[in-house]
This record gives sequence, structure tokens and C-alpha cells, in this order.
Amino acid sequence: MMEAILREGLEALSLPSGGVPALVRYGELLAEKNKVMNLTAITDPAGTARLHFLDSAALLTLADFRGKAVVDVGTGAGFPGLPLKILEPSIRLTLLDAQRKRVDFLEEVCRDLGLGDVECVHGRAEEFAGERRESFDLAVSRAVAALPVLAELCLPLVKPGGAFLAMKSVGSGEELNAAGRAVQLLGGRLERPLDYAIPGTDVRHRLVILTKIGETPKKYPRTFAKIKKNPL
Ligand code: SAH
Repeated sequence: MMEAILREGLEALSLPSGGVPALVRYGELLAEKNKVMNLTAITDPAGTARLHFLDSAALLTLADFRGKAVVDVGTGAGFPGLPLKILEPSIRLTLLDAQRKRVDFLEEVCRDLGLGDVECVHGRAEEFAGERRESFDLAVSRAVAALPVLAELCLPLVKPGGAFLAMKSVGSGEELNAAGRAVQLLGGRLERPLDYAIPGTDVRHRLVILTKIGETPKKYPRTFAKIKKNPL
């Protein structure tokens, strides 16, 4: 069932289907682990295939990930980073999450799938910027924070010339407007949002692209307490 949905969905996105067996296995591991810890609210195979895997896969049709160093900030159970890596193996992937147990799960999945070259990091984005500032071609993130906060967590990690891709809902217009100042202060430029449909559903999502046009001033990111209390 999951396999058929994935094959159809990837075909609709004009993406190769070589990663389907790995995605199916990942779905099994996710369902199994979700019984004993809270990883995701979506538990059925069809929902996992569409709302996690195909939603993540759609990004490959909207930006060029080939050979890029990519960090997934607040990846949780691995979304969107792990499906991207499974479907585009040339990505050099770093999965970052503040919850130890989620990072342990990701390491388990990578071992099981034989994905040796994925870096799974337990840490907070605003602290990770201390060691890996401006070292990624792309940052991606889904369902972590509102854009003014998220931009301060993610843009410092991106090289000038790279981009931060934020997965948002199509109702994110106000959030986008509110982020204008933050994006500018952090060395970014807000591009025109790209709306896309998840195949096999009537769900439409939005990819918000922030191009990194200059260096992020050293005073950013601030501590999370300050970011939250006083978003840019
Ligand atoms: N991206 C996944 C998970 C979203 S839940 C998905 O779309 O399914 C949000 C995740 O972000 C949680 O796992 C939480 O631990 C992580 N998170 C929140 N703030 C963070 C921060 N500052 N740095 C790193 N991870 C963070």
C-alpha cells in the first residue's frame, strides 16, 4: 500500500523511484518506534507516505540539491532531510535536533538503511551556529517555528550564496510579511514563495526560499530566550 502510493506520487513529481524500498523500510521503523515514543502524529501508512515522504520529496522538484551540503534544522523523525537524502544520495546531509531520543532514532534508521554518510547531531540550532557557521549550501526546516524566529536559527548556518528553504502552509502570508525585517538583518533575501501540491491529496504547501545574499552579523543568532522573547 505504501509502496504503491510512493511509486505513483514520485512519478507524478517526475522523480526516480529507486529510493522506494528504503522509504518503505523507514516507514516501518517509524511506525514501530512511534508505539513507544512520540515521533509523529501521523501513524497510518498512507498518511506517512503522502504527508511525510512525498511532502519532503516535492522539495527536490523546487530546488537543486545535487551534491549540496544540507542541514535539516529541527528534523524530528527526519523530515524533510532523510527522504531527500534517500531520493538524492549525492546530498551531504546533517540532521539536527534538540531532542536526544529523536536523534537516537535517526541514527538507528541510518544504520538500518546503510546510510553511512549522514551526520546526526543532537543540539540546538542557535548553538550549532557556534561551530558550523556559514558552512552549509542549504538549510531546510519544517514545522519548527514562525519565520522570524526560524530565520535567526537557520540563516547563520548557510553560506553566502546558499539558501534557507522553509516549508510552510499556503496560509503563511502574514508570517512572511512579519519576517521581512529579520531576513534583511540576517543577510537574507525573501524570494517569491513556491506553492506545490502533494500528489494524491488536495493538500497544498508552500516553500519559502530565503537566499543568503550577505554574511550574517556575528551578533546573530542570539540565545533562544532572547530570540523568543524579542523576535527580530
Ligand atoms: N521537522 C520535523 C519535526 C517537527 S517538530 C517534521 O516536520 O516532522 C519540531 C522539532 O524541532 C522537534 O523535534 C524539536 O526538538 C526541534 N527543535 C525545536 N527547536 C529547535 C532548535 N532551536 N534547535 C534544534 N531543534 C529544535
